[in-house]
Formats: sequence, structure tokens, C-alpha cells
Amino acid sequence: MLSNSFGLQANAKNLISINSLDDLSALSTLGDEKILILGAGTNVILDEYFNGTVIKIHLKEIETYKEYISVGGGVDWADLIEYCLKNELYGIENLTHIPGSVGAAPVQNIGAYGVEISSFIKSVECFNLRTRKVETLQSNQCKFSYRYSIFQSKNYIILKVNFIFNKSFAPNLTYPALSHFLKDNSIDVSSITPRMLSELIKDIRNSKLPDPKLQPNVGSIFKNPIVRANDFDHNFLDGHRWDQDDEHIKLSSARLIELIKPDLVIPDTLRFYENHSLVLINNGGASFHEVIDLLNQIKLKIFKKFKIELEIEPEIISS
Ligand SMILES: Cc1cc2nc3c(=O)[nH]c(=O)nc-3n(C[C@H](O)[C@H](O)[C@H](O)COP(=O)(O)OP(=O)(O)OC[C@H]3O[C@@H](n4cnc5c(N)ncnc54)[C@H](O)[C@@H]3O)c2cc1C
Repeated sequence: MLSNSFGLQANAKNLISINSLDDLSALSTLGDEKILILGAGTNVILDEYFNGTVIKIHLKEIETYKEYISVGGGVDWADLIEYCLKNELYGIENLTHIPGSVGAAPVQNIGAYGVEISSFIKSVECFNLRTRKVETLQSNQCKFSYRYSIFQSKNYIILKVNFIFNKSFAPNLTYPALSHFLKDNSIDVSSITPRMLSELIKDIRNSKLPDPKLQPNVGSIFKNPIVRANDFDHNFLDGHRWDQDDEHIKLSSARLIELIKPDLVIPDTLRFYENHSLVLINNGGASFHEVIDLLNQIKLKIFKKFKIELEIEPEIISS
């Protein structure tokens, strides 16, 4: 069984576990079969059977050097946050409570509350599936941008990520949802500590997103679409749209879904989270096909009604 936070039943033909760098020799036996590199499975929608080889990275060490720390791809993201808090390494407090593994973090350049992980990545050690060699990519070779990196090309297995964190604490509190929360709760920002900030982020996230361990989900199911402002009435989706530049606006997918929800046929195995329409929950026993059918239904209805094309956020892994 392949573990995934959506709780979908999934199996694969082969599984290779990399527990130490010596295990990389197992990769030399790979032929032309399909390959899936799987972390904690919090950003994937898995089909019932993967007809290929799944590779799991279990490298769990955190090594400290003078200027940087080197973190195994199999380390849990929450454990890295805790390690940083304990060792006076600063900068990623805003990324607290993002589920997943360290190895997956560079893949979509994880970000939250105004911080992206690429700001702290010195280099990434990976196995190049084309050359079959271990390589180190410096940060400027990783092509990081918003929710993107070179690792989405699927040519690399990330083994270790080398981070340079700040030696002094300079909290980033400018992101609107965070600054409003601080204001609404009369929190004195001059006395905020790294641990406090990390806990606050956890509280904000818990108030908005369901815990995948209790209510299986993969976070936001669609990306928020960026569209040309001129194509829409200036009142369209008022309060649920954000200016991007002179010509473009970002629209709330959650709001778009709410507007077509009464027309959807939703199977009993799935439901939208009560506090956030962008989060789809597996009530138990949902199948890959039920999920994909519902996502396609939503895409079609939103396109028909508003001429907006939604893009699914998690990666769909079909057999
Ligand atoms: C409740 C919830 C909230 C979330 N909030 C956020 C958020 O705020 N910000 C955000 O950016 N994301 C968010 N996510 C998405 C998810 O947490 C991140 O994308 C996370 O980095 C995925 O980690 P994972 O180990 O589960 O990766 P997986 O889901 O296992 O894999 C994701 C992708 O990375 C690839 N991959 C995994 N490991 C490796 C490796 N070692 N080498 C190469 N490729 C690899 C996989 O092939 C796949 O393409 C959220 C998800 C959930 C469920």
C-alpha cells in the first residue's frame, strides 16, 4: 500500500527504498519502466495501481556544517521546523505545519504566508535519472519560481537539501492573513519569538485547514486562476479577487466552486471541507475515479458558466 494523505487505496508493481546512499546501486537495475518518486504523499492523487517502480527516500540525517545544514530527503518537514527552532536557525517559521517531507519541499518550492523555501536553499543533492549519477545543483540551477522548480521535470531524485538559515530572527509578518491575525488578537509584534510565530502559524492553519490525519485531504485541490482583468466585469467575484498587475487578476477557486456547488453530483465518499471549499475530503472509501470525475465535473461547470479554466493543484498519478 502506498501511503497518501488522501487515504486512497494504491499499490505499485515495484518499490525501491533508499535508506542510505549505498542503496542507490539498486537504481542501476532500472530499465524503461515508469518511475514515481514518492514522499509523504500529501500532494498526489494516486490511481489504484502504479504499473512501474515507486522510489521512496528514507535518508533521515541532519548534518551540521559551519555555514549550512544538510538534511536528508526523508526527514519529515515538521521535524526540520522543530530542529531549526531548537538550534536557533531562523527564517522558516512561516512554513510551519506544511505536511510532507524535506525531499519534496524544493519540488514545488513550497511556500506560505509570504515565505518560499527557495530563499534558504544553498544546493540540492540528487540522483540524476538520465546520467545515473549523483549531482549537486546550486540554488541558481534549480530554476525556482512560484510553486515551480527544475525538479518537476522528474529527472532528479532529491537525496539531501542543503539549507542556509538566518543566524538572527527577523520575522516576516507582512502577509495579509498573518498581519490581520496579529492585529485582531492584539499581539505585540515587538515581543514575538520564533516559537511563538511558529505556533501562531499553526493556529491560523488549523483554523482554516483540516488535519489530513483526521480528515484525509491533499490541501487545495485547484490553483487560484490568474485571468485577464478586462475579460471580466469589475464587480465579478468582489472580495474574492486580487489584483496581480495592471492587466491580470487572481480569482478565488474556492468562491468559484461555491457558486456551482448546488449543480454538482458529489458521491457519498467525498465532501468539501465545511470551512474551505477548496479542500476535498475523503469520507472513507473514495476511489481515484470518483475523485477525478468530480474534479472534471467542477472544471467543466466552471468553464461553461464563467469561461475560466481551473488547474488541479496536486499531481495526478495515473497507472
Ligand atoms: C493540508 C495540506 C496543506 C498544505 N499546505 C501547503 C502550503 O501551505 N504550501 C505548499 O507549498 N504546499 C502545501 N501543501 C502541499 C504539500 O504539503 C507539499 O507539496 C509538500 O512539499 C509535499 O510533500 P510530500 O513529501 O508529501 O510529497 P509527495 O506528495 O509525496 O510528492 C509531491 C511531488 O514531489 C515529488 N517528490 C517527492 N519526494 C521527492 C524526492 N525526494 N525527489 C524528487 N521528487 C520528489 C513527487 O514525485 C511529486 O511530484 C499542503 C498539503 C496538505 C495536505
